Amino acid sequence: MGNIVAIVGRPNVGKSTFFNRMTESRHAIVDSTSGVTRDRHYGQVVWNGRDFTIIDTGGYIINSDDIFEEEIRKQVILAIEECDVILFLVDVTNGITDLDETIATLLRKIDKPVMLVVNKVDNPGRAYDANVFYKLGLGELYNVSSINGSGTGDLLDEVVGLFQKEDEIEEEDLPKIAVVGRPNVGKSSLINSLIGEERNIVTPVSGTTRDSINTRYSKFNHDFFLVDTAGLRKKSKVKEDLEFYSVMRSIRAIESSDVCLLMLDATIGIESQDVNIFHLIEKSKKGVVVLVNKWDLIEKETGSVKSFEEVIRRKLEPFVDIPIVFVSALTKQRIHKALEEVIKVYENRKKRIPTSQLNEVMQEVIQANHPPAEKGKYIQIKYVTQLPTRSPSFAFYCNLPQYIKDPYKRYLENKIRQNFNFTGVPIQIYMRKK
Ligand code: GDP
Ligand code: GDP
Repeated sequence: MGNIVAIVGRPNVGKSTFFNRMTESRHAIVDSTSGVTRDRHYGQVVWNGRDFTIIDTGGYIINSDDIFEEEIRKQVILAIEECDVILFLVDVTNGITDLDETIATLLRKIDKPVMLVVNKVDNPGRAYDANVFYKLGLGELYNVSSINGSGTGDLLDEVVGLFQKEDEIEEEDLPKIAVVGRPNVGKSSLINSLIGEERNIVTPVSGTTRDSINTRYSKFNHDFFLVDTAGLRKKSKVKEDLEFYSVMRSIRAIESSDVCLLMLDATIGIESQDVNIFHLIEKSKKGVVVLVNKWDLIEKETGSVKSFEEVIRRKLEPFVDIPIVFVSALTKQRIHKALEEVIKVYENRKKRIPTSQLNEVMQEVIQANHPPAEKGKYIQIKYVTQLPTRSPSFAFYCNLPQYIKDPYKRYLENKIRQNFNFTGVPIQIYMRKK
């Protein structure tokens, strides 16, 4: 749960090529989510049933000769603070450069797993050249070629082997809530009005990931954990300026949560950065409640809530079955309601529909509208079952799973949503051979 892997290294060693290879492998395994734009710098990888977020820190470097070494140092330091595993990429065709030395010096001091990945090892001759990198003092070498893919499978085995086992993670049956959004939307203000200045801490416990601290609160008759609030309340202006930093914090918070409160600024409206965070939540299969904050500043005219909602849902398509609450963190208007919605979404995410009930409803849905025949072949869905996953996923068993297209899967998803309340929760639909 919630592991984050960072790729660090100087320019041109092949970080983005490596990143692309890692994230592409996902498409072979998982159904593509239509309409979801992929960010170039972070993505999800699934390997041996474990998934993690991978970040190409290089994507955030401002490329100018004089500032660039300092920039790289900053990225590496942030990656060290925020990530669980660091992949340090070097280029076999260049040998060790000064900048490689600088980065290695930073990485030798830390107690998180660092893997030294020697890239561009396209052939066995280069594997011999790679040995020079032992001099960096970072232990074992992982030789890969991002161009032809060699070595990447072994590397991934090692990476996921470093993660905590799912069943070793202590789980408490309480919602873990993350407050996410762009700078200045009002996250800190919300947290303050939610939990008060007195910080009604019951017990601080370490979160599911090594670095995020979830603090338990009891407010408005609900017990819950707030993810990583310290980082939100203690601001360092320098760090806030870095897009990389805020993206990293969002990823960390989302990964550690069950339900995210995605905050928007009513005076600004919904922008592409907000939509990116939303997709990140969706891709991470977490619950979501959208809060339109600073509603106290909006002139009240009839219908304005409705038109606001319409605009937001249009931007978030196709996943629009989500609660939207208009709040003011400042006046505390509807903060209680926001928390209620979070609890409902949390319950929806845990919901298990008994197989018999599911089939009773879905057989009718399938009878009413069969999947279209493909290449003259009749497609038959025999039965459906909800998989025992943390977030709702459904397997439909049929004779020709490969012939069922996205629009039909969306039809099934919509019918599941209509019949069983899954508001605020992303749903996965899989077609399997019976
Ligand atoms: P970044 O600046 O670290 O993100 O590096 P890029 O991914 O842009 O790669 C820099 C150059 O190295 C590009 O021309 C890539 O095609 C090339 N490259 C990346 N990986 C490999 C590899 O495994 N083998 C070879 N031969 N070239 C590679
Ligand atoms: P963060 O960067 O997302 O943590 O945002 P802050 O909580 O620091 O809020 C940014 C600014 O917006 C501050 O000046 C807040 O006082 C202001 N603000 C936050 N919430 C509200 C609200 O509901 N109404 C109004 N009018 N201002 C707000």
